[in-house]
Amino acid sequence: MLTKYGIAVSPNIAIAPALVLGVEDFRIPNTFIDVNAADVEVERLRQAMKNVGEELAANEALAAEHMGKEYGAIFAAHLQLLRDPRLSQEIEKLIRESNHSPEHASTVVLRRYAKSLQQLGNQYLAERANDIFDLERSLLRHLLGEKREELSHLTAPVVVLAYDLTPSETAALDRKFVKAFVTEVGGSSSHTAILAGALEIPAIVGVGNFLTDVAGGETVIVDGDHGTIIIDPDKPTLESYKKKEARQQKIRLQLAACGEGLAETTDGIPISVLGNIEFPDEAVHACNRGADGIGLYRTEFLYMTGIREKTEDEHYSAYRKVIEAFGDRAVTIRTLDVGADKVPDSMRQVFRGVQNRELGLRSIRVSLEYVDLFKTQLRAILKAAVGGNVKLMFPLIGSLTELRQAKMILKDVIEDLEEEGESFARDVKVGMMVEVPSAALMASKFAKEVDFFSIGTNDLIQYVLAADRADPHVAKYYNPADPAVLLLIRGVVQAANNAGIPVTVCGQMGSDPKYLPLLIGMGLREVSVTPQAIPVLKDMIRKLSISDCEDIYQRVSELESARDADSLLKKEAAKYLHNENMELAMA
Ligand code: PEP
Ligand code: MG
Repeated sequence: MLTKYGIAVSPNIAIAPALVLGVEDFRIPNTFIDVNAADVEVERLRQAMKNVGEELAANEALAAEHMGKEYGAIFAAHLQLLRDPRLSQEIEKLIRESNHSPEHASTVVLRRYAKSLQQLGNQYLAERANDIFDLERSLLRHLLGEKREELSHLTAPVVVLAYDLTPSETAALDRKFVKAFVTEVGGSSSHTAILAGALEIPAIVGVGNFLTDVAGGETVIVDGDHGTIIIDPDKPTLESYKKKEARQQKIRLQLAACGEGLAETTDGIPISVLGNIEFPDEAVHACNRGADGIGLYRTEFLYMTGIREKTEDEHYSAYRKVIEAFGDRAVTIRTLDVGADKVPDSMRQVFRGVQNRELGLRSIRVSLEYVDLFKTQLRAILKAAVGGNVKLMFPLIGSLTELRQAKMILKDVIEDLEEEGESFARDVKVGMMVEVPSAALMASKFAKEVDFFSIGTNDLIQYVLAADRADPHVAKYYNPADPAVLLLIRGVVQAANNAGIPVTVCGQMGSDPKYLPLLIGMGLREVSVTPQAIPVLKDMIRKLSISDCEDIYQRVSELESARDADSLLKKEAAKYLHNENMELAMA
């Protein structure tokens, strides 16, 4: 049994066999064999090793002939490893003495080899571990043969373990069989983490090196509340997690009722709790969780599947689905926010050569440069908005010039639709995300030119503190409670309140109950959050008074470090959470 820790990004507990992605790429269906089957299974292993050997020898000859001797040597090295008698002896021993299946035994032994290479502290040898992974893949391919199961066609539950998952890979995970995922890299506010929440798959990111410690098919416990991953748990641990899982499910079920109705503080001030969504299918689900509307619909995920750009009709159908689910409640549709870690296949050429993905071409800058693309989306939003309560929001606005350009293009689209005699909504409110420090600093000027603000703390924090939101190496520098971040948020809220326009926080900070009293104390009356968090937040709002929140904000604003602010906020939030919710919400 081995325990590892990472950043918990999506709650709940999952227990299932491991699927080690990127190396294994397919599931090992059986970890153990029947006690009497050892001879047959050893024979199967020998046959597979023989086949792999023949394949490698053929590849060696082919590569040497067509590309040169040094390329042939790559396969020769694999072949040498395969023919090392210690390898087959060790695998056969696990089959005969521990009843491991040949697939499982092979990955256990080969991963042990890879790990010892990685630990030698020599870069060259560490990279040779990749040769072992290559060999593992070939051997598994031959052992599993026709029974091989690709990630996209799973037939049984797994926990996906990977070095990294891109947002598009995450979006494509099959919710029915992928019970959780864990990655070596990644940060708390990365889009992959956000998607895990949307898909309601327990997830942990930023674990660091651990893939060589786990073999495909081994049982894994993922505790997405605490960021703990347990590989090959012993019986008592497994039993205790199964009980914990059942208890948490019961609490979550009871909690679901708190999502119903508008939440008011004890002194009667309503606080809207809106939902963040990425896919149209989530709309109904967000509704069921108690969303008072949609505060952020990340439309770029429409582009994350498929290899061509979306048509106006495809945009229209997606938007209608969300608008219809919410009736007269507000639906805030954010225009395309691609770039950085969100690069759709259909737009690869747009981002070719971008040097620094977080500071390079992304978001509204793409829309302003590719005007036709932008216009297609704007037309669809305005047409879909008929009969709904739709708000339009521009992401990553950094200057008044950009905002004015975006509004000009919107004006052009309105004129086009009018000329064409199309039916569309003219009265759509137009707002902007405040997520670039320049926009936060100039909030009072922007407030005169938009109908609402939505504070994107995920990006705002990374740009203010110079800490990539998706990089676990700088996770300790990325803190929503940093005094500089709080000062900027407060400034934006004040600017909005002075101008009489609504302001929301739609970054992940709003989904964490710890920050809720602080945000209300700063003057916010609306948050937009991951739908899973809605019931806990509404339950908490009903126990808070505005003066309590203002007092908390006052005390936090006098602190000079994120650490002090964090511990004060944790202590305060605990007073307003039900005991049983504490365990879930404050992990
Ligand atoms: C944000 O930056 O806080 C935000 C909500 O936008 P995204 O996470 O999609 O970048
Ligand atoms: Mg953002």
